[in-house]
Amino acid sequence: MSTRQASSGTDEPWLKTACILCECNCGLEVQTAGRTLARIRGDQAHPGSAGYTCEKPLRLDKYQNGAHRIDTPLRRRPDGSYEEIDWDTAIDEISARLSAVRDAYGGDKIFFYGSGGQGNHLGGAYGRALQAALGVRHHSNALAQEKTGEMWVDGKLYGGHTKGDFEHAEVVLFLGKNPWQSHGFPRARPTLRQIAKDPRRTMIVVDPRRSETAAMADIHLRVKPGTDAWCLAALLGVLVQENLVDKDFLAAHTTGAEPVLASLADVPVADYASRCGVDEALIRQAARRLGEASSAATYEDLGVQQGPNSTLISYLNKLIWIITGNFGKPGAMFLHSTFAALAGPAAGASGQPGRSRRTPVTGARIISGLTPCNSIAEEILTDHPDRLRAMWIDSANPAHSLADSPRFREAMRALDLSVVIDVAFTETARLADYVLPAASQFEKWEATFFNVDFPVNVFQLRPPVFEPLPGTLAEPEIYARLLRALGAADPELIGALTRAARAGRDEFTAAFFGAVTRDPALLGLAPFVLYETLGTALPDGQRGAAVVWGLAHLCAMAYPDAVRRAGFADGNALFDAIMATPSGVAFTVDRWEDVWNYVRRPDQRFTIEIPELTEKLSQLGDAGTEGTSPEFPFVLSAGERRSFTANTIYRDPAWRRRDAEGALRVSPSDARALGLADGDIARVVTERGAATAVVEISDMMQPGHVSLPNGLGLDYPGHGPVGVALNDLTSLRRRDWLAGTPWHKHVPARLERVPS
Ligand code: SF4
Repeated sequence: MSTRQASSGTDEPWLKTACILCECNCGLEVQTAGRTLARIRGDQAHPGSAGYTCEKPLRLDKYQNGAHRIDTPLRRRPDGSYEEIDWDTAIDEISARLSAVRDAYGGDKIFFYGSGGQGNHLGGAYGRALQAALGVRHHSNALAQEKTGEMWVDGKLYGGHTKGDFEHAEVVLFLGKNPWQSHGFPRARPTLRQIAKDPRRTMIVVDPRRSETAAMADIHLRVKPGTDAWCLAALLGVLVQENLVDKDFLAAHTTGAEPVLASLADVPVADYASRCGVDEALIRQAARRLGEASSAATYEDLGVQQGPNSTLISYLNKLIWIITGNFGKPGAMFLHSTFAALAGPAAGASGQPGRSRRTPVTGARIISGLTPCNSIAEEILTDHPDRLRAMWIDSANPAHSLADSPRFREAMRALDLSVVIDVAFTETARLADYVLPAASQFEKWEATFFNVDFPVNVFQLRPPVFEPLPGTLAEPEIYARLLRALGAADPELIGALTRAARAGRDEFTAAFFGAVTRDPALLGLAPFVLYETLGTALPDGQRGAAVVWGLAHLCAMAYPDAVRRAGFADGNALFDAIMATPSGVAFTVDRWEDVWNYVRRPDQRFTIEIPELTEKLSQLGDAGTEGTSPEFPFVLSAGERRSFTANTIYRDPAWRRRDAEGALRVSPSDARALGLADGDIARVVTERGAATAVVEISDMMQPGHVSLPNGLGLDYPGHGPVGVALNDLTSLRRRDWLAGTPWHKHVPARLERVPS
């Protein structure tokens, strides 16, 4: 490590790392000056991003260094202030209080939230061991306020996660998705430019806003806010009614298509086009282009996943590419391997009926093991005997990011115990009983599990760029200290495995898998056991990477042929390559025909009919559009992605070169009607709260639709909050009926001009 650490100047070596601001995790190279990230550029050797970055990571030193960093454990006093304590005291007190909650109420009353953001997932892997040791059953993370509806649909249809080959697709459909700003696939901007300039290819965007991507599109289906379901149903209606369906694909690869096609044959296209406010001819043009293309790929994102009918929309989106046969070929959709799962399988993913788990207090549906974020406060603020009693929050800021922040704050303070791990004294940390300061993402071995590509899938384990900030610890060490205090592992077993690890990799492999075979319950503690044993035999400073050895073996067992094609005989060979290749390795290499191996249904066919959603589809004609009223006549999209917005790890407002306060975007006609000019201040009022914002008049917005950006409203030492904290405006009530995902992109609101 000391040879890697820069001391001064810009002639320092370029060190490999990754961007931590979105799930693309583009490879970066950085030059350091002391403890500063002095220069940042794309890593040409990264097998996914190949040197590409957008503008966002170039100021990552604002994350790495600044007044937000904390460097000592903190304990809350009764008056709400915090006192510094040492690590031993923190570990002793927290382990004792966690044990007390478990012993009094059961480990299932301890809730885990987070465990990794856009760039750090290794800590979360170690957190699983603490959950196993405590008997934790309920947890959640940001996926449960975005993706769980789609995950539920994926589980029913084919039991996996799909993505599109946008680089090669003849036609692309972006649905509530603006890849120019929110990316979502490798090298998004060059790919968008290539599609836009190629007359043989077509970009279709469904979005109420004229986003940067919509402005590049060949066909922009500019729906009225919240009406995407009618637009998609109309597209599907045209595909079926104009015989643009791939009948051979459906016969060969699906079951249950007939009733779905029959339902789509009845869709009143003209009526639904009118309902979504789009010219029927344009919808027919888009559908014909999708139906006739040699390949098509689609991408749905938060614009629809955080709005009305979100789970139904996920289903309709997937029906578009399924009934046109756009799966399992270049330029189409695919399923893929994964190095490590971010969430559990959705109920029914195996093809069996599947047990639908529910939360203990409110009975909310748990999807892929995740409690709906909108239900968490309700699982606490009650006198129900099974209410949650403690919460562990790792690398997440739910008091800022979950709907109805005041309610979440109330819930956190109602707990018997709350613990936060973070690099910063966040809005959530300021409510916790204990705050544990973590090393930054550039101060430890780290990785993400957003491995979602095909036929070549990539995993990057990145080494630290700096030593940990004095006083902080990497999450694996924090979890290990707690698990030791809890006496989680048998010392004799740890001793035997440590001796095996020092004897050699083969000896350790045999000893570890022998121990797991004798006691399968050990698997739950495996990350901790690996840290304590194999980790001590790894070269200096690499201990935090020990869990990757286990994940590499699981990966090699799950996809033996694809891992061999990638050049690795077994899990040990894959692990060694990962450790030796800081730009990342291709861990699976598939052929297109292998894509069907990833369909986790008993007959390896898609199960097209989902009764809960075909019923919703048939009811669309009678359904109303949720939302506005005379009191709240506007739809607020809360959380627009812009050039200078990012996830909340950027706390220093100085990172934004433009749009410093996160303007409220208003259409020209609404601005005229309200007497607003650029730079004026407007008050945004919703059923839950009110906030003021600077106005930007923008023809991106259609009348009746306004937007505020994500990532603002954070308190930074010396500044106070800058911009609007969106979840002071959102409510728990407005959420998807099935997945419980919040409607952040469809918040009824009114605007009031604030006199200057
Ligand atoms: S696309 Fe995402 S991961 Fe890549 S540089 Fe931009 S923000 Fe970072």
